[in-house]
Amino acid sequence: MRRIWTVELRPQAGRPTLVCPSCTAHTSPLAASSARSAALAHLACHARADALPVYLRSCQCRAQGCAWHPRHRGCHGPVRLALTRDRGGRTWRLADACTACAGATSHTAVVPDTLLGSALPQSSAGPPKPARAGFRPGPDEQVRVREMLTYLSAALPRFTSPAARLLSLQCALRTDTRGHVRLQAGLLRGMRLRGHRDLWQELAHAGWLEPPDARSAPVQLRLLDAGVLDQAPGRRARRRAAHWALYPAPLALPAAPPALRLTALALAAHASPGIGHSTDLDTLARLCGHSPQQTGELLDRLVTTGTLTTWHHNRETDEAAWQLPRPPRTNRPATRLQRHQTEWF
Ligand SMILES: [Zn+2]
Ligand SMILES: [Zn+2]
Ligand SMILES: [Zn+2]
Repeated sequence: MRRIWTVELRPQAGRPTLVCPSCTAHTSPLAASSARSAALAHLACHARADALPVYLRSCQCRAQGCAWHPRHRGCHGPVRLALTRDRGGRTWRLADACTACAGATSHTAVVPDTLLGSALPQSSAGPPKPARAGFRPGPDEQVRVREMLTYLSAALPRFTSPAARLLSLQCALRTDTRGHVRLQAGLLRGMRLRGHRDLWQELAHAGWLEPPDARSAPVQLRLLDAGVLDQAPGRRARRRAAHWALYPAPLALPAAPPALRLTALALAAHASPGIGHSTDLDTLARLCGHSPQQTGELLDRLVTTGTLTTWHHNRETDEAAWQLPRPPRTNRPATRLQRHQTEWF
């Protein structure tokens, strides 16, 4: 069963046109600003329409002789939908791919099922994780933030700044179904991003949103990314996730520079219970819009500031293993927040 869909964005008389071979040469002119999100939304429609139980889905990369990526050790991991854009952002491909192939393909991100809306059967989320001793799935907020960071790593241009990424995460999690977002001045102040008009310009230039009126308070804007409008979890659950992303304990660094904050957030979104953790270095780099080398430098800085006790790059598996300091033991009864922390980290 072939599960590969592509669309092309063709510049035509100054106005990009969406061309989809699956829709019998379906073309439609687009507003220039929304071309990228229209491509994602159209591909998601196909995936929704052709939903298939997980046991019938196979790695489409392998079916193509694994020509989409450099050689690796072979397919493994659950099959998910992987979104790939070509270098210029003109062609977009959505396909079933195993974790190994998706991870080895450049300009590729795994699309969370929550972003395809509720029409996708639950079974397509892949087999449940093997039960390890003491393993408990992370809180919903952590999963939601991880999925949204993953999505944004594909939807935003590669060189989007860390501050703009932090801002886009808040917008994507707080949007209503029409793309309208209201951000209170206090929230932006807390993020140390209030009055940074350049960030709105950056995201507007990427075609991701309509910039807000600089004088309005609260800040009101509209997202142009159709991919975030039809999210399965309700708005209240997403708002909780947005709040968690502001203070992702115990990796909350509200006063640190945005690049460091985003790295800490990406780590928090991948943390498992306990002290020792590991994450694919390439994944971390992609979520933060950095090179793996820059990510390594930022991890070094997190060790210097005492946020991590240590980290290590395993060149064999390309994993970054990192450790959090042990939570301080006190005789005072734990606050709700502390209980929450020790429960999950
Ligand atoms: Zn189509
Ligand atoms: Zn492959
Ligand atoms: Zn594969």
